[in-house]
Amino acid sequence: MNDEKFMRQAIELSKLAVEHGNEPFGAVLVKDNEVVYTNENQIYTMKDPTFHAEAGLIRRFCMETGIRNLSEYTLYSSCEPCFMCSGAMVWVKLGRLVYAASNLDLEEILEKKGSNCSQMVFEHSNHKPEVCAGILREESINVLKNYFTARRN
Ligand SMILES: [Zn+2]
Repeated sequence: MNDEKFMRQAIELSKLAVEHGNEPFGAVLVKDNEVVYTNENQIYTMKDPTFHAEAGLIRRFCMETGIRNLSEYTLYSSCEPCFMCSGAMVWVKLGRLVYAASNLDLEEILEKKGSNCSQMVFEHSNHKPEVCAGILREESINVLKNYFTARRN
């Protein structure tokens, strides 16, 4: 299944992000069944707390291509996007969002409530991508757990 194939790549990027000194989140942008752009979390190496995998991907892809409308694109994210990244998806009219771990999964791992729910953003916006949740969820949860549990101890 293609969703799994692209999600696997997003999860691989989330592992690379950790190797590069950042947090475990990755994103892959796909059009017509082909990967057109990838990005990983870069908040520490770029010294930019807003450089999340998804928002960073959207910013760079649009800047480099001049494309402003992503209604024909699918974005794969290793974890449910935060408020900011969900907002970026609204601004580019993203066609489809697929994510692995949910924000609830992340909250459980972090042992804190963030209510960083993408659904909330989309419900209050004039654009909502088609959303598909839980693809390779367990694999993503494992990467998140490895990282955040190690940091806590
Ligand atoms: Zn984000």
